[in-house]
Formats: sequence, structure tokens, C-alpha cells
Amino acid sequence: MTEPRRIYLDYNATAPLRPEARAAMCAAIEVFGNPSSVHAEGRAARALIETARHAVGRLIGGDARGLTFTSSATEALNTVIAGGWGRVIVAASEHAAVLAPAARTGRAEYVRVDGDGRIVLDDLARLLGPEEGSETGRRVAGGTLVCVQAANNETGVIQPIQSVSALCRERGAFLLCDAVQAAGKVPFDCHQLGIDYAVVSAHKIGGPKGVGALWTGQGAGVPPLIVGGGQEHGLRGGTQNVAGIAAFGAAADAARAELQTALDRTGVKADFEARIKASVPDCVIVGETVDRLPQTVCVVMPGRSAETLVIALDLAGIAVSSGAACSSGKVSKSHVLAAMGFDDQSAASAVRISWGWLTQPEELRRCTYVLARSAGRPSQIERVA
Ligand code: PLP
Repeated sequence: MTEPRRIYLDYNATAPLRPEARAAMCAAIEVFGNPSSVHAEGRAARALIETARHAVGRLIGGDARGLTFTSSATEALNTVIAGGWGRVIVAASEHAAVLAPAARTGRAEYVRVDGDGRIVLDDLARLLGPEEGSETGRRVAGGTLVCVQAANNETGVIQPIQSVSALCRERGAFLLCDAVQAAGKVPFDCHQLGIDYAVVSAHKIGGPKGVGALWTGQGAGVPPLIVGGGQEHGLRGGTQNVAGIAAFGAAADAARAELQTALDRTGVKADFEARIKASVPDCVIVGETVDRLPQTVCVVMPGRSAETLVIALDLAGIAVSSGAACSSGKVSKSHVLAAMGFDDQSAASAVRISWGWLTQPEELRRCTYVLARSAGRPSQIERVA
């Protein structure tokens, strides 16, 4: 008997490797030169990195010159946040890769999010204060850094980055935007959005794990976190992961090419949500009325345990995750849902379903059926085998 094919719906944790990325990675492994060497072998490796730099830059509307490759988005975020700021202001729903380095500075201040997960702009304005920077909003090194993500990994809620950046400029603060979940899923343009620092990660868009990038806008420098051989224009020491970077570039090009198709499939999310609401009437779609990623649904299932639901789905061949943050196999309370005002019980019943480039609509229909069945409500919807 053949095992039924598994259904993977946890793209916000990591996406399957795209064939274009795999091919680029395999080819680059053969290019063994050190990218810092001046000879032909070194130049060949260097050329792969520069091609990828342009591809990742194109994905986020940032010029290649401003792009630095790192070992992960976490490293890139740490680099900016540890940059010697006088004040570090972070949204309460940021990823741990922002919250932890911000807390470590001993200078973190938190901006509230509302019940829909959107940053409370008045709160940010109050914290920045009218006197921040000079009267003309001139920004100074060692001044204020504001960290607001483009889209949330647990809920898919999209932040009003344009309004945040306008406020930051007016009040003389620099803006760091964690674009890990937005890049390649929705249009994202650093220049248009007025961002100073943007961070992306290869494995969220079908590239390999262990590669990230930091884009730095003009006039927004940052000291390196890792010093050594002066690689990446002196911004990140250490010989680059050439194969990983080449694959990141290939994944970025592929994600950019299919962006419109991905957006055209927003009907898939509406269909998924309508089905789950029909079969589990007391469920709550988190951030239902606000702008969200087209491929993420976080659903609170009152009275059920998310952990039990995730296990039931796993046994049925479907991989999703609980809304609660899960690191190193340990499930802890979701600070994102708590910041949005959900009580502990509701937060512990939240399931996150996220999909991407390989997902078929019938896989989502199957997930709705199994989720509804596992939640203890006989599904009104037709079974999808
Ligand atoms: N920021 C967000 C919003 C994320 O979802 C993640 C990964 O889960 C990260 C940062 C960290 O990315 P990386 O795994 O490349 O360190």
C-alpha cells in the first residue's frame, strides 16, 4: 500500500526548496573558488554572489549596492539593532529575532498593536515625541531606531509601513523593516516605502536555510556585527556561503516571477476561510477585516487545544502549526496573539495554515475538512479525499 502524499501547509515556518534554487545550488557547489580571491576561480565565485545580489535587490526594490548577505534574517536583524542606537522602539508583535536583540540593548520601548494586529500609530507618534531629532526631522547616528515588520509570521497581518516610515522621517528616526514574510508574497519596495533597513530570508521564499540579507538605504549605515576578513564590503566578515547565496538569488527571481499568480490566488484564501467558518461556526479568523498576506490564515478554535489539532492533522498527513510560537520543539504562549488582546485559552487554540508555490487548492480543501472533523464539528462540506 502506498502512503498518501503529505500536504505541507507551514510555509511561514519554511518553504520547500524551489527547483530553480536547487539547480543554482548544485551548480554553485562546483564553483569552488574563494569569492575574495582575485584569480579566475575566485572571480567565478564572486560573480555568482553578485548575480544573486541583483536578484534579491530586485525582489525588494532595493539597489544591489545596499545589500549584504548574512547567515540568516536573525543575524541581519541583530546587526542593525545592535548598531549603537540611543533608543530602540519595537512593535509588540515583532518576531523574536527582533524582540530579543532589542531587549538585549536594555533600551527597548514597545508600541502597542490593536485587536487586528496593526500597529497603533498614535502610540508610535507619542513615543517618538514631537522633539525627536532636530526640528527639521534630521536623523542622527546613535539616534532612534524603529522596528516594524512588513507582515506577521503568525497571523499574516500586514503593517501600514508607508505611514510608519512617514512618521519616522518626520520625527527623525530610522526604520528597520523585517520583510521576511512579505518579500516574494506581496509587492514590497524598500524605496517606495521609505525604509532605511530591510531584512529578508532565503528559506521563506523557496531558497535554502541559513542565508539572509540586509538591505541598507542611503545615509543609513550600521557597524558590522561580525568582523574579520572584510567581506561584504566590510559589513559582514566571513567567507560567503556561495552556493546558498546563489540559490537565494534563484529563489528570489522565481518568487518575483510568480508574484502576480500568487496574488491572483487570493480567492483561495477566501474559499478556505468561508469553508472553515461554515463547518466550525464559533471559530475566529485572526485579523479577518484587515490587510493580510494572501497565503496565511490564523484561526482561533475556541475550547480546543491547538496542539491536539496540529497532531491530529499531522496524523492525517497534513503539516500546519499552532499559533503559539514554537522553538526547539517547545511550544510557548503566543506573544503576538497576547498583544492583540486574545486571552491565554484562545491563544492556545489558534492554528496557523500557510501555503505557497507548490500548494494545490484541493490540498486546502482537504485541510478544512480534517480541521473541522478534528475540532469536533461534523463537516457540512463535501469530503475531499
Ligand atoms: N522574522 C520573521 C517575521 C520570521 O518569520 C522569521 C523566521 O521565522 C525570522 C525573522 C527569522 O528568519 P531566519 O530563520 O532566516 O533567521
